[in-house]
Amino acid sequence: MVGVKRLAVLGATGSVGRSTLAVAARHPSRFEVAAVSAGRSVAALEEVAAECRARHVAVARADALEGRPELRAAGWRSGPGAAETLAGLPDVDVVVNAIVGAAGLRPTLAALEAGKRCALANKESLVSAGDFVLDAARRGGGELIPVDSEHSAIFQCIGGARPADVRRVILTASGGPFRQTPPAALARATAAQALQHPTWRMGAKITIDSATLANKALEVIEAHYLYGLPYDRIDVVVHPTSIVHSFVEFVDGSVLAQLSEPSMELPILHALAWPERLDDPVLRTFDPVRAGPLDFEPVDAERFPLFGLGVEAGRAGGAAPAVFNAANEVAVQAFLAAKVSFGGMADMVSSALDALAGRVAGSVEAVLEADRAARRLAAETLVDAPRAAAG
Ligand code: NDP
Repeated sequence: MVGVKRLAVLGATGSVGRSTLAVAARHPSRFEVAAVSAGRSVAALEEVAAECRARHVAVARADALEGRPELRAAGWRSGPGAAETLAGLPDVDVVVNAIVGAAGLRPTLAALEAGKRCALANKESLVSAGDFVLDAARRGGGELIPVDSEHSAIFQCIGGARPADVRRVILTASGGPFRQTPPAALARATAAQALQHPTWRMGAKITIDSATLANKALEVIEAHYLYGLPYDRIDVVVHPTSIVHSFVEFVDGSVLAQLSEPSMELPILHALAWPERLDDPVLRTFDPVRAGPLDFEPVDAERFPLFGLGVEAGRAGGAAPAVFNAANEVAVQAFLAAKVSFGGMADMVSSALDALAGRVAGSVEAVLEADRAARRLAAETLVDAPRAAAG
């Protein structure tokens, strides 16, 4: 008899969070949602919590429960540490971290330190503080299972192979909505255009990151930590239809890939069920004919400078990845608010890296301080040299 896994879904009101709740609801004999959290959307969280009958509910914004004494009376938590508390609760077995941004770091650490499975969508945790995340898993006995589709693909392809058997991994990238946009038009691209992703429906931040290819740089860093691979053994190839989710090449030249129609529900289900696989009524049977020809092309790093900046930050190590990530978060919000142009985002991130990448990151607190410094600096860049986004 297999037990029911009790889930904490952090970021439950978002894209990955809602997909997780949908997957869990289809397998009630295997998963129960014990806890849910959100950033600030109290009304959406109330709906979600009622639907999945979660026992524990938390919202990150400190004043979110003002004027709602009945929620506090019902045991709701609030404040920046609330998601972290849910991640460590004794009646939670699996923490699905679907929070967006570096705000997800503390909950990732808490889950791993408490010896739980962390099904990680929040790549920013690993990017900002990879060494400390791995250390938390070692100390607490927790396990890190990727939810990002590319890393789930690599996880599935590597299977039980020894690390020494892997020559390299090749992450696939859709190329985003601007894959074929001429450079002049790219500089004037608007948020509305950038939010039209060709193959995935996701939250706004990762959708913009996919348009700039910053997301692929974050994923290269994520792969470096998850699979212990040096950067020269992590490649990226553009694959516009997002059918092949990544490749693993072994030392004998054999290459394995994982394929499916693009749906986050599959890597989520995999991360929850592993090492088992569950039959799912909704995930479609793969049809190679319908999937069509599988095309691949190189990344045009010149047109997408955030890709190169991010990978370089990963290679530099120390505080550089945290600085890259934090400045990028500020740049994305500024772009969404039409305060910076598409091309201006890379300038903001580059300035922050120039000023702060050399900082040491000897503790989680030092990483968070570098993160805060990068946010301050990026925000100042914005005030000093506002660049109007083309409308
Ligand atoms: P969304 O923006 O759709 O959802 C983000 C979630 O995080 C919401 O529940 C939001 O709450 C919550 N949140 C926001 N800020 C905070 C905060 N400061 N503290 C706690 N919770 C917060 O994002 P996605 O679901 O698209 O992405 C989530 C993560 O998964 C990201 O790291 C992304 O890179 C990764 N990912 C996403 C994929 C996708 O298909 N969407 C694919 C692969 C990875 P509220 O609603 O209140 O704002």
